[in-house]
Amino acid sequence: MQQTETYRCEGCGTVFRVAGGDRPTVVCSECEQVASPHGDAAAKREYRVGHATYVEGRRRTTEALERFESGHTTLARGGFDDAAGELEDSVDRFTAAVTRADSEAVREDCERARKKATCLWQAVEWLSGATYASEKGDADRATRYRKDAQQRLRAASEYDVLTAPDELTD
Ligand SMILES: [Zn+2]
Repeated sequence: MQQTETYRCEGCGTVFRVAGGDRPTVVCSECEQVASPHGDAAAKREYRVGHATYVEGRRRTTEALERFESGHTTLARGGFDDAAGELEDSVDRFTAAVTRADSEAVREDCERARKKATCLWQAVEWLSGATYASEKGDADRATRYRKDAQQRLRAASEYDVLTAPDELTD
C-alpha cells in the first residue's frame, strides 16, 4: 500500500490526495496555487514544531526577566528579542496548524496555542521596549511598557496550558 497525503489549495479549497512519501510540490489544477498538506496529521506536524519553539521562547523569556530584575538591562533586551523571535515563529506554526486541521478537536487545541503564544509574543515585545526605555533613562515609559507587558501576560495565563504534541486529540 502506498502512503497518501492530503493537500488542499488555500485559493479555491480543492483537495488532492497525493501518493508517495516524499512531499512533492502540488499545484492546484483549478487556480494554479501551490497546495499545502492538509488534515490532522499535517496539523500535528506543524503543532509539534510550534510547541518546541514555544517552549524555547518561554524559557528565554523567563531567563530574560531574571536578568531584567537583577539590573542586567542590555542582556535582558537581547534575551527578550530572541524570545520574541521564537514566539513569533511558534505563532506562525500554530497558525499553519489551525489552517491544516481537519477535526474540530485538533483545531481547537491549535487555536488555543496560537492565541496564548500571540499574547506572550506581544508581552515580550513590550518587555523589550521596556528595557530599551530603561537604557535611555526614560523610567516613565519603561514603567508603562512593563504594565502593558503584564496585561498581556495575564491574558496569556487565561488560556489553559498547551496540549502536549503527543496528546493532541485524534
Ligand atoms: Zn485552487
